[in-house]
Amino acid sequence: MKKIAVFCGSSLGFSEVYKNDAIKLGTYFADNKISLVYGGGKIGMMGALADSILKKNGEVIGVIPGLLRHEEVAHSNISEMIVTKTMSDRKVTISKLVDGYIALPGGFGTLDEIFEALTLSQLGIEQKPVGILNTNGFFNHLIKQLAVMVAEGYLKESNKNMLITADSVEELITKMNTYKAPKITKVINKIVS
Ligand code: AMP
Repeated sequence: MKKIAVFCGSSLGFSEVYKNDAIKLGTYFADNKISLVYGGGKIGMMGALADSILKKNGEVIGVIPGLLRHEEVAHSNISEMIVTKTMSDRKVTISKLVDGYIALPGGFGTLDEIFEALTLSQLGIEQKPVGILNTNGFFNHLIKQLAVMVAEGYLKESNKNMLITADSVEELITKMNTYKAPKITKVINKIVS
């Protein structure tokens, strides 16, 4: 993987543990020549992640909707900033650039972005690895909710398993590098044929 999208909080959260995770992931990217594609912010987890890569002269590409760029939140010092018209355009632009997706702790924005990536996989539109770094069990309840969705018949076990989970950066990247997307009959093909 040469370029990975990372979705994470525009807030730092209350525990240093998560900020340290962002820094660990960023350092790994810079050391292994992986480019970061992210929301383009300088605040919260996003800022900590971007800064840890820039500090080691790694590549950071921001993709930000024009609306957010004018706020005091856009990073002014990254390798490249792509400005999109809308929030939806941002997702499309990011998906065209990257080989995989990672979520770190965050809120609604983070969940929206990682679940869109999973939805693209579920529909067979993309075959890229999608992973979450589950330090400190941050995503445990979310993982349990996915199990409830399977048990209640709303999510296929095989689709649930598309979400890669790991407790460390190294484990996460290893799992993502060896990820094999399940064969899916594209819904779109089914509709048009
Ligand atoms: P949240 O998890 O709700 O804090 O939202 C963070 C995610 O949404 C990031 O991955 C960003 O892509 C996007 N996002 C939310 N707020 C901003 C912002 N102020 N500037 C840039 N991106 C943002």
